[in-house]
Amino acid sequence: MRFIDLSQPIFNGGPNCPAHPAVGSEVTSEHGKAEWQWETLTLASHTGSHLDAPLHKIAGGASIDAIPLERFTGKAYIVDLRADIQGERDWITPEMLQSALPIGLPSQSILLLSTGWGDVRQRSDHWLFGSPRLHPDAARWMVQADLRGLGIDHWGIGGWDKENDALVHTILLGAGIWICEELNLPPDVCSLPMPQLFQALPINLRGHSGAWCRPVLISSTD
Ligand SMILES: [Zn+2]
Repeated sequence: MRFIDLSQPIFNGGPNCPAHPAVGSEVTSEHGKAEWQWETLTLASHTGSHLDAPLHKIAGGASIDAIPLERFTGKAYIVDLRADIQGERDWITPEMLQSALPIGLPSQSILLLSTGWGDVRQRSDHWLFGSPRLHPDAARWMVQADLRGLGIDHWGIGGWDKENDALVHTILLGAGIWICEELNLPPDVCSLPMPQLFQALPINLRGHSGAWCRPVLISSTD
């Protein structure tokens, strides 16, 4: 069994959603000065590779700790959209998804959208504000397809488009589909046979709207 790590690192000053506070990690106690080393973190619960629970957008919705862990594993299809993304703030449409996926996608599948944005992850205007946007029709198509979860390789599925980001989160989280943002999907995972077993277990943050996670593909080949 082999784990393919799909996570992005969290570090002091690292890139994150521009609507959230800057990521801080300070060494509070260190060897040479003390007997122990430990760090103090300052970061939103939606920083780095993380899962959104319905509560993130839906008032009264389920929090991340209320969802059975079995929901966060399953058969995943990696959708290679890198050639389809034409420029900044481009739309991800249902047609793009349909042409990349098998006809009759099984119910409760997980989709992992590879847009190429994970490869340019840095605190730049391009990465912060130019990422592709999931079109609301694509979100509705995912609800129709009875997805279990959706992952994407940038900080937010809706892009830097307040109205669209709110709408696509409402559509998916309202249907109980979790969202895993800020994946790292290196180009070689796009050529793996599909589906692959995916797992991303959230940290147990009581009553929170989302949590950091360590997303992996679990390969049985070696
Ligand atoms: Zn989030």
